[in-house]
Amino acid sequence: MTFQITVQPSGHQFSCEQDETVLAAAMRAGVGLPYGCKNGACSSCKGKVISGSVTHKAHQERALTKDEEAAGQALFCCATAHSDLVIEAREVAGSDDYPIRKMPSRVATLEKLAPDVIVMTLQLPANETLKFRAGQYIEFMLRDGKRRSYSLASPPDQDQPLSLHIRHMPGGLFTDQVFSTLKERDILRFEGPMGTFFVREDSDKPMVLLASGTGFAPIKAIIEHLRAQDSQRPMTLYWGGRRPQDLYMDALCRQWEAILPNFTYVPVISAALPEDHWSGRTGFVHAAVMADLPDLSGHQVYACGAPIVVDSAKRDFVAQCRLPEDEFYADAFTTEADIHKS
Ligand SMILES: Cc1cc2nc3c(=O)[nH]c(=O)nc-3n(C[C@H](O)[C@H](O)[C@H](O)COP(=O)(O)OP(=O)(O)OC[C@H]3O[C@@H](n4cnc5c(N)ncnc54)[C@H](O)[C@@H]3O)c2cc1C
Repeated sequence: MTFQITVQPSGHQFSCEQDETVLAAAMRAGVGLPYGCKNGACSSCKGKVISGSVTHKAHQERALTKDEEAAGQALFCCATAHSDLVIEAREVAGSDDYPIRKMPSRVATLEKLAPDVIVMTLQLPANETLKFRAGQYIEFMLRDGKRRSYSLASPPDQDQPLSLHIRHMPGGLFTDQVFSTLKERDILRFEGPMGTFFVREDSDKPMVLLASGTGFAPIKAIIEHLRAQDSQRPMTLYWGGRRPQDLYMDALCRQWEAILPNFTYVPVISAALPEDHWSGRTGFVHAAVMADLPDLSGHQVYACGAPIVVDSAKRDFVAQCRLPEDEFYADAFTTEADIHKS
């Protein structure tokens, strides 16, 4: 059975099979609904069902509470339709400009930049390129239909290779392999580009770039892309880690600060050890933003990394610093642990 979905306020329409999610059907039809993890954990795809009925596959309560569901809200990445629907969702212009493709790639280099961070570069087949927006991610297609997402750290303006920043999660299906058996010249298949976390180039608002850990990857792509475009937009990067070694490209950020007049870098460490001799900012990275910029009403925020950092930043920036909710853009790096949290 097929249902008709109408999106408000745009009026765009698409059809949805009864066994597919509203988001999957929208992506198939080239309708740009916002999304991130596609697993019911990050809430980027949350919208409203104005008429018709949906049921949700398993999702995290923190992404969509029972009260929100009762009030007609839905997570379109795990909602299936039971009738024609009219939904309310903010569409993302430009999200379907570049086709999502499946591609083989060859691991070109694996470089350990911190005890738990590897920078992996990927070579595409000859004459192939991947077109994407700065901030988007790709999904590796593993055995048994499993997939893992990684943000592209290289800017779209650069020819190959593609670059990814991968943090080891002990016990993790993919990263255990990356940190043990994976080697240069191995083949990995991926699908991409994905996601609606990318720089909105039609705005000239000053940008707060908030990264935790390897959340720096898409932020790096955004900074390098804007630099390649000769953009003069003010950018302030807050990069948070537990210890200084977590800021595995600190020297690059300091170099940007020295040469780019519109760029400021604020490294923030939450759990330095005495032997780190850390004398910079300390505490939670999003709290550092709030201390420096108590009024975010004229800013755009791009936040990426640990879900707890992204969630806290959105909640507190909107509630306490007057950031307009629709000027907060984010990708939360959810993992199996977040998806199966009880
Ligand atoms: C949009 C997006 C972009 C991302 N980009 C990046 C990036 O650029 N860099 C990056 O480092 N990461 C990124 N991630 C996270 C990445 O996709 C993986 O989730 C992460 O690398 C872990 O993968 P894994 O297979 O090694 O671990 P998983 O198999 O996902 O396991 C993760 C942890 O959960 C535990 N676990 C596994 N199964 C369960 C279960 N059923 N219940 C409880 N615990 C469980 C494991 O022991 C492990 O500690 C991104 C995620 C998203 C959604």
